[in-house]
Amino acid sequence: MDLKLQQYINGKWVGANSGRMRTIINPYNQEIIATVPEGDESDAKAAIAAAREAFDHGEWAFTPATERGVIVRKIAELIERDKEELAHLESLDTGKTVEESRGDMDDIAGVFRYFAELADKDGGELIDAPVANSISKVVHEPVGVCGQITPWNYPLLQASWKLAPALATGNTLIIKPSEITPLTHIKVFELMEEAGVPAGVANLVLGAGDTVGAELSNNTDVDLISFTGGIATGKKIMQAASVNVKNLALELGGKNPNVIFADADFDIAVDQALNGVFFHAGQICSAGTRLIVEESIHDKFVEALVERVKKFKLGSGFDEETQMGPLISAEHLAKVEKYVEAGIQEGATVAVGGKRPEDPELQQGFFYLPTIFTDCTTDMSIVQDEAFGPIITVEKFQAEEEAIKLANDSIYGLAGGVWTKDIAKAERCAAKMRMGTVWINDFNLYFPHAPWGGFKQSGIGRELGKAGLEEYTETKHIFQNLKPEPINWF
Ligand code: NAD
Repeated sequence: MDLKLQQYINGKWVGANSGRMRTIINPYNQEIIATVPEGDESDAKAAIAAAREAFDHGEWAFTPATERGVIVRKIAELIERDKEELAHLESLDTGKTVEESRGDMDDIAGVFRYFAELADKDGGELIDAPVANSISKVVHEPVGVCGQITPWNYPLLQASWKLAPALATGNTLIIKPSEITPLTHIKVFELMEEAGVPAGVANLVLGAGDTVGAELSNNTDVDLISFTGGIATGKKIMQAASVNVKNLALELGGKNPNVIFADADFDIAVDQALNGVFFHAGQICSAGTRLIVEESIHDKFVEALVERVKKFKLGSGFDEETQMGPLISAEHLAKVEKYVEAGIQEGATVAVGGKRPEDPELQQGFFYLPTIFTDCTTDMSIVQDEAFGPIITVEKFQAEEEAIKLANDSIYGLAGGVWTKDIAKAERCAAKMRMGTVWINDFNLYFPHAPWGGFKQSGIGRELGKAGLEEYTETKHIFQNLKPEPINWF
């Protein structure tokens, strides 16, 4: 592998202070694909010190935004140049199909390009102050040193949502990938170095959540923490971040409803209901895992889903025929199996799947069959908890109000979908669904121009869109009195 396989701190490629290493395995066959340094708190502290120095005494925060935009745009171009290598690394590391990884790389280049374009579009604002002879202006400045923590499901895509806006707005940063999927983070740091990101501005520390991640959350030299991952970790980070009242952006989990009305385009709704979950084996925060189907079409809809699911081709992400790869790890596979067992015990019916595949070729990988549960009710853990695997639960409804009630019956509020040809009905539902994104006659569509984030326990703050840039800025009001006079109070 032609990768540096090291951490990147203060413009240098370095091993872990402790000398410890971690092996990275391919979830398709458990082969070792790389060995990388296992950083800890001391590596994180060194990276934080470099980022602090670069922010407090370096040029980056005061570099004209246009020049920062040029560098961020260059990163996009380099990602496009090395797309095949990046896609290959992402598929090796996560098991997802290389076709999907290629799509991720296009999206990632698009994210860097979008934030590069925004970099110099905010010249601040003049306010009409209620004071004679004054100038009152509002400007946006970088927050400072940013700690960024990413998950394993979309490693580089999630990183791009954090790196691009942080750099475009003049922050310095330390990013920590999931310890099991570091490869494309390493590669993108090679590209960021090539693009001309100055030493100390962007730092990469590899290692575990409870060491490196906890240091980033606890350290008082970090001004902002941006985290994508599960709710339980998000809560720990939120507590730790209170140590110096860090700015906080949390992109947490989802248990997303997909509401299908009887008047929807049946075939497209079936197709997208499958795509909305089984893409990347259900390991998507926005997966439409809770199907809520109008009773009059319920049986026919489930039948159509099951028929299609039975034909899915599971396998290596590098095989062009493969539609679904493995889960990420043995631990995650065990967790998904537990959820399915609980679903069965609670009275849901397995319409298809519900076990590991028997195909001898898949036995070395962490595969699980695409699974559909019917006879589901909202009190079941399989309906409430984010299993983060290839599982759909199906609930029935009769009236529009009931569908909305079922859709909102969750601690999560990340995303949801509505399928109907009745546009007024779709808009009524979208208005009442308590989620950060609602798709009407579509599912799982993201683009850099639209904000992404959760209501309720799905998170705080937004990534992507203008809001995703604003997360990385502080708002400052500068007031100037052009004709100062004494107040004569004292
Ligand atoms: P996770 O919470 O286990 O880990 C995420 C990251 O946090 C990893 O880098 C991990 O090392 C780190 N971490 C773990 N413990 C930590 C601690 N105590 N302090 C600081 N950092 C710590 O999540 P995961 O299993 O990697 O990812 C799956 C979760 O991510 C799912 O819940 C999914 O919905 C969510 N996710 C959300 C979005 C979104 O946009 N809302 C996108 C992708 C994934």
